[in-house]
Amino acid sequence: MTSYSPYYKISNLRMSLKYKCRMCGTCCHEVPGDYVKRIPLYPDEANTLIEIAKERDIEFKIIEDLVFPDIQNENILIITYRIRLDNENQSCPFYDDCYGCTVHDNKPLACQAYPLALKRVDAFNFEITIDPLCNFVTEYYNELESIDLEQLKEIFKEEYPKAENFYRKNKKLIFKIRKLEALKKIIIPRQISLEEFNKYLQNWNRENISVK
Ligand code: SF4
Ligand code: SF4
Repeated sequence: MTSYSPYYKISNLRMSLKYKCRMCGTCCHEVPGDYVKRIPLYPDEANTLIEIAKERDIEFKIIEDLVFPDIQNENILIITYRIRLDNENQSCPFYDDCYGCTVHDNKPLACQAYPLALKRVDAFNFEITIDPLCNFVTEYYNELESIDLEQLKEIFKEEYPKAENFYRKNKKLIFKIRKLEALKKIIIPRQISLEEFNKYLQNWNRENISVK
């Protein structure tokens, strides 16, 4: 059983509250202002979407997201990419104004679970949380702010199992990194300056970390 956040407190939430997507498309678009929207993709998901984009002749760009420097082999280990939204529409290239997401059968885990998301607690640990940028969440923010885990599962009945899949996959990937460390096949520094990190990013090879 995963260790979910102790930060959900019991509240007097109306238990009749159920998540219903407003189909507003906000989650598939860049957020106005300085905040950078992050739609994470595992390397296998990125490859699938790259292939679909090629077939549809769509411009699809990704950027490295969660990475670890391996100072033993001078590699940048990539756990996730994220979708670039800096196009004319400031949206995911698979978003259609009339139909919404056009890659339903190949939706990344992050999109399947949304508005549940993974929050990074420290270098190697994550927990399931609710993304406050979703319009349903904004609408019911006060009610959702202090719910406990059981209420979370009830309100986001369909999304919660998907968020668990997302969490499990992330955990497996982090476990793989830690196992490689334990076997002394890689070394991930626990402290690193921004200057050093940027130097590694500029000069080292990339290696995707994947699990089945
Ligand atoms: S893959 Fe679909 S759900 Fe995910 S951001 Fe793109 S259009 Fe939205
Ligand atoms: S922002 Fe929330 S309500 Fe709007 S489309 Fe995305 S998941 Fe649905």
